[in-house]
Amino acid sequence: MNIPLVLPEFLDRAVRLYGDKQAVIGGDRTLTYHELNDRVNKLSHGLKNLGVEKGDRVAYLAPNTPEMLEGFYGIFQLGAVMVPLNIRLKPDDYLFILNHSESKVLFADEDLLPLIELIRDRLETVQKIIVHYKTGETEDLAYDKWLSAFPAIPFNRAELDENDVCSLLYTSGTTGNPKGVMLTHRNNYLHALTTMHHLRVTDTDVYLHVLPMFHVNGWGSPFYYTANGATHVCLRKATPEAIFRAINEHGVTVLHMAPTVLNALLQYFEEHAPASGENVRVVIAGSAPPPAFVRRVEQELGWEFIQVYGMTESSPLSLVSTIRSEHHELPAETQTRIKAKAGYPMIGSNVRVVDETGEEVAADGQEVGEVVVRGHGVMHGYWKNEEATKEAIQNGWLHTGDMGTVDEYGYVEITDRKKDIIISGGENISSIEVEGVLYDHPAVLEAAVIAVPHEKWGETPHAYVVLRDGAEASAEDIIQFSREKLAHFKAVTSVAFVDELPKTASGKIQKVHLRNAYWNEKGKQPGRY
Ligand code: ATP
Ligand code: MG
Repeated sequence: MNIPLVLPEFLDRAVRLYGDKQAVIGGDRTLTYHELNDRVNKLSHGLKNLGVEKGDRVAYLAPNTPEMLEGFYGIFQLGAVMVPLNIRLKPDDYLFILNHSESKVLFADEDLLPLIELIRDRLETVQKIIVHYKTGETEDLAYDKWLSAFPAIPFNRAELDENDVCSLLYTSGTTGNPKGVMLTHRNNYLHALTTMHHLRVTDTDVYLHVLPMFHVNGWGSPFYYTANGATHVCLRKATPEAIFRAINEHGVTVLHMAPTVLNALLQYFEEHAPASGENVRVVIAGSAPPPAFVRRVEQELGWEFIQVYGMTESSPLSLVSTIRSEHHELPAETQTRIKAKAGYPMIGSNVRVVDETGEEVAADGQEVGEVVVRGHGVMHGYWKNEEATKEAIQNGWLHTGDMGTVDEYGYVEITDRKKDIIISGGENISSIEVEGVLYDHPAVLEAAVIAVPHEKWGETPHAYVVLRDGAEASAEDIIQFSREKLAHFKAVTSVAFVDELPKTASGKIQKVHLRNAYWNEKGKQPGRY
């Protein structure tokens, strides 16, 4: 008999096989899988008591905490839909998402409640707010006190179908307004199975949540580490120091993080702790890490590096950069390029790079096309936005808006987002490639490259650079450095030094803000010219 591929199965398995093992550590809370399951049952009973039913949306606003992990399973057990909220949004964004998703209940961390206070009287559907750690008497419920009123006995689960939507995840908003991505139990379940295979997750793993659980980058981790009985370690704030301490204190084996956070961590290790993290077996990063990071992780820390590619709309992962054994003899440089920038499709994902007519581009590592994805990870659709769904999914293929190439070995390389490509003298320049070179400059801590107008060439690469503490470099140095390493038309022609770069909550650089700021300064509307 077929069993439906639904997420509560993962926790059931962990409880059966690993009941007394540490499930989650965070703050002053440590729970075994039995204890976690008891709290999950209480949570489902509690939500039912509040009138939450199958299909209802329940929003969650918190940093990485054990409570949020139990939140996922408590909500799924009811057949309700988890709407995780990014903790770095503005009050008006919360207002938009909470009303747009028609969320009925909101879980909020006490530290973040002041943001909700500013919009509370304009919330249209939220009937109850449950606040972590709040103890005083208010109209809101205090999480632990509320939970304690319900029994830990097994919850009589809603009839779950694998095609039921279980999460509504708003995209990062790197390029514009966030869109609500509906993912089903099946999307998440199969994505978790393939990811645990590609990352070789086992019950000996200790996973440090650096990426936020509310964000798609950290998304599958509550599922595939749980299914394998691994231990979750939660950090409320993932500063390099806190990551470093947690790695050593808990014997962390796996970390996933955005390249910008990895960069800060490498920097911290260099300054404070040359040899450390001996249990770490692998660090995983998405969002276009520069090749310099791969070299540093492997050589300075001795950790394996895996790069993954994906997007909210594909559950998220579609490509993984592990090098196939038949390619272990390739030159080191080629291997580093593949690890940093390319990958092959994960099991269950078809990935193609196509031209405007839908034909696959030549596998020569040169011809650029749009990356399209098909498979079990592809979303059910955008919530309340059929038009955008139709545009994104055509004939079953998800159009990612990312451009890429395929090399002779079959590895797909993401060259850039369509919107970030610089078109100079008719040539397409990948901002990612130019940034990769700037990161090799010893004085550069962070870099982002955007297109700015050029009289002769149409557009030209303009770099925003954050220098390392105490390091010095002039714009001329940076321009010269990029000219030495890149074809001249790709080299940056102007540089602005800044103290920091605008980033999303998961650490992605928001080039849209850099572009807007550039155009504001010029007193013009942004856009292609
Ligand atoms: P929005 O769609 O709201 O503008 P976003 O696209 O940043 O935001 P996500 O779904 O979080 O939202 O991010 C997916 C995007 O991140 C991909 O489409 C791609 O542009 C980029 N990305 C992810 N992984 C990689 C990678 N390994 N290499 C290059 N780019 C990557
Ligand atoms: Mg996107």
